[in-house]
Amino acid sequence: MKFDSLVRDCRVSNGRHFHLADHDPANTDGIDGKKEAIEALEKGVARLGELQERLYAQNRWSVLIILQAMDAAGKDSTIEHVMSGVNPQGCEVHSFKSPNDEELDHDFLWRCACRLPRRGRIGIFNRSYYEETLVVKVHPEFLDHQKLPAQLVTKELWAQRYEDIRAFERHLVRNGTVVLKFFLHVSREEQRRRLLARLEEPAKNWKFSAADLAERERWDDYMAAYEETIRQTSTKEAPWHVVPADHKWFTRLVVAEAITARLKELDLAFPQLPAAEQKKLKAACTALRAGKS
Ligand code: ATP
Ligand code: MG
Repeated sequence: MKFDSLVRDCRVSNGRHFHLADHDPANTDGIDGKKEAIEALEKGVARLGELQERLYAQNRWSVLIILQAMDAAGKDSTIEHVMSGVNPQGCEVHSFKSPNDEELDHDFLWRCACRLPRRGRIGIFNRSYYEETLVVKVHPEFLDHQKLPAQLVTKELWAQRYEDIRAFERHLVRNGTVVLKFFLHVSREEQRRRLLARLEEPAKNWKFSAADLAERERWDDYMAAYEETIRQTSTKEAPWHVVPADHKWFTRLVVAEAITARLKELDLAFPQLPAAEQKKLKAACTALRAGKS
């Protein structure tokens, strides 16, 4: 497949030597024509729709897609475009914001575990438990709200979270959930342009939040937290994809290709009815043709 290398270039299956600096947010992998990419995306979206129909009918695997990014990197529009060919009955999107009181009364994986996709479904997490080693690491004061017993809050806490996340995802994978993780990697300069557009274009004003500017000030801390998280939680069974996000058309193409490529590796097929059932179908067919039913 022509775009295989796009996915391979951004996939991190072993984080040991991962460096964010090796990944250029503006990369388009030599694809010169945006038109070519948009046509390829259309094909990818259609293929994803077909694969999802089989996934749903077969009802064995489930697919968890995790999207993480800085503000304005394009998470929402990637979901909108990549999933546009998928039957809404087989797909759910969950967005995770600051945890509420009930969520804070549970362990940090709980609220996401409650929303995992059932067999046959695609579940998209727009942010996820990864916020726990990203925003919470940048703002360790958020840990105070988490009501953890004091003796459990040690300098090992982050290493324990990485370990728990790896174990959680391994458990999911072993039980038939395909886990695909995407970091939409936007540059600070492109984020500036997009936030400015939210202020300058009245139709985009609703997307702007003053809090985004405060987080932007912590850019380097966020990048360090992303780098460490990706290093610690990239595994063969649950790889990260570091997707260049300065060009939205390229981001969408890579995400669509990564999902379809992974689904194609599964043995997705429509279920075959047992011989006795097929016999019944034949009889029903004959009756309907003859107008006897
Ligand atoms: P948008 O593109 O609309 O800005 P968003 O995903 O940024 O979408 P917001 O409502 O702006 O949604 O922000 C959600 C905020 O919640 C983010 O700043 C995120 O870091 C924060 N958040 C998510 N999970 C946690 C968590 N476990 N602890 C603290 N903050 C969290
Ligand atoms: Mg936001």
